[in-house]
Amino acid sequence: MKKSEVYSSYPDAHDLTGELQFQLAQGKIWLGEQRVVLMPLSALATFRKEVLTTIGMERTKAFFMRLGYSNGISDAELARKMRPDSREMDLFMAGPQLHMLRGMVGVEPITVEFDRETGHFYAEMLWLDSWEAEICLSDLDMPSEPACWSLLGYACAYASSILGQEIIWKEISCRGCGQDKCLIVGKPAEQWDDCEEFRKYFKEDSIIEELYELHSQIDVLRKDLYATDAFGDSVGRSEAYKRVCDLANKASTSNVSILLTGETGVGKEVMARGVHLSSQRSNEPFVAINCATIPPDLIEAELFGVEKGAFTGASRSRKGRFERADNGTIFLDEVGELSPRAQAALLRVLQEGEFERVGDDKTRKVDVRLIAATNENLEEAVKAGRFRADLFYRLNVFPVEIPPLRDRRQDIPLLAEHFVKKFEALHSKKTMGFSNRAMNALVAYNWPGNIRELENVVERGIILAENRSHIESSQLFRYIEECEDDIPGAAVTDDGGLAPVGTATDTHLVDQLLDADFDLEQLENDLMAKALERSGGNVSRAAKLLGLTRPALDYRLKKSGIGKG
Ligand SMILES: [Zn+2]
Repeated sequence: MKKSEVYSSYPDAHDLTGELQFQLAQGKIWLGEQRVVLMPLSALATFRKEVLTTIGMERTKAFFMRLGYSNGISDAELARKMRPDSREMDLFMAGPQLHMLRGMVGVEPITVEFDRETGHFYAEMLWLDSWEAEICLSDLDMPSEPACWSLLGYACAYASSILGQEIIWKEISCRGCGQDKCLIVGKPAEQWDDCEEFRKYFKEDSIIEELYELHSQIDVLRKDLYATDAFGDSVGRSEAYKRVCDLANKASTSNVSILLTGETGVGKEVMARGVHLSSQRSNEPFVAINCATIPPDLIEAELFGVEKGAFTGASRSRKGRFERADNGTIFLDEVGELSPRAQAALLRVLQEGEFERVGDDKTRKVDVRLIAATNENLEEAVKAGRFRADLFYRLNVFPVEIPPLRDRRQDIPLLAEHFVKKFEALHSKKTMGFSNRAMNALVAYNWPGNIRELENVVERGIILAENRSHIESSQLFRYIEECEDDIPGAAVTDDGGLAPVGTATDTHLVDQLLDADFDLEQLENDLMAKALERSGGNVSRAAKLLGLTRPALDYRLKKSGIGKG
């Protein structure tokens, strides 16, 4: 049996260095037959970093391994040409020598042994001052695993090409990830347990194909997004929100009427649709109507339909919303706005399941599940005689209060990201999400318009943000300054950021007040009155708006005489 060749020392490298030639007049550098270029390491560092952020760790690793691979293949070609008649070990060692000549790494062989006939190959080498490790060491984000990817690709390609069998090298330790040295071990592929996995790095996976694939998926998703947005916008993980969802879930299994309460924009319709979709009526119509947007004298006709000739302009008979919602769910938003006649008709349809169209004698039957919503205090409306008590009790069988967004701040990032996805799809844009500063501002803001306001603000941000950039706070909150200038809760601070009123050192506002010759007591009273108005008379919520405890606000209210009629 022929003895394996074992490495002892590097052969003379003059044959290789002589191949490196500069053609200054032509602007070319050659290594053998190959044109090469000089490039500063810093440029390569930037390049590698950019690739990393663009396509991620695994892909970048494969990308650089293949870069090294093609380099190793061509150096093997050069080596064969330069050392055609050398001992096989000298031919083999031209690889590390060329690697050094290229300035990529110093190579110090520890063990190299091979026997071409038996296919035996085993080698260990030290890599000194690898260019890739050097880049990693100067980067703040140090990788957590060996990072000399292109070098490794080079070694695999070169050894496999020279020896005529597949050799795989692995980096056992790497300075690039904080270890004390770059140590590589090379063996025939089949001697590595995970060689299949490793081979994948050398396969070209077309990112373009994947992009096309993703594109068509986005088209499908975009269509779905608007077809089934119902549960989509119902996002949250806060305790307050989970309690509401539990309640709504319980309600959805029965046919009970639900009364959704909460400030404007908290997502009552989304919740109503969610209840509908998780109920047995999900395949039947969901009809939503906002009672406040329809003139009182037309609301009955809108809800229950109209017979031809019932009034001027009723030239044709038509179905009302209840008929259209038959077997399904009807959502009546701002139900407190219904006229007394409409309230009576609504009560009847809830109790008897029957109604008449306006101007018609014929009694019709419907099977409709009612979800009503209001942002006013219906109990107060009953006391004031504006809302029928019997209808209120009928509606209030299953009340669900949806908390305002400021009481579930931990859901803000989740909701904001959700709207980013939605509007990126809608506007065919890709951002890098919110800047840290923008996210802080979103969470700090008081959101008097609740989720609807958040949705509008995020859409605005998506439209204003540059493609592939972060959404910045100025792109979100310019909108609020321009359009909603009476909103308290957030103020622009001296450094241009947003902070909730109360913690903001808003000298601008203070100056304005002082210039306006204001009265401190009057201002305090006005603020309390406004907060009570916004909270619908709920003292605890008003206290929260003002940044006070409830007892503190109680005390001040008593002192000022507000809230006593
Ligand atoms: Zn390394």
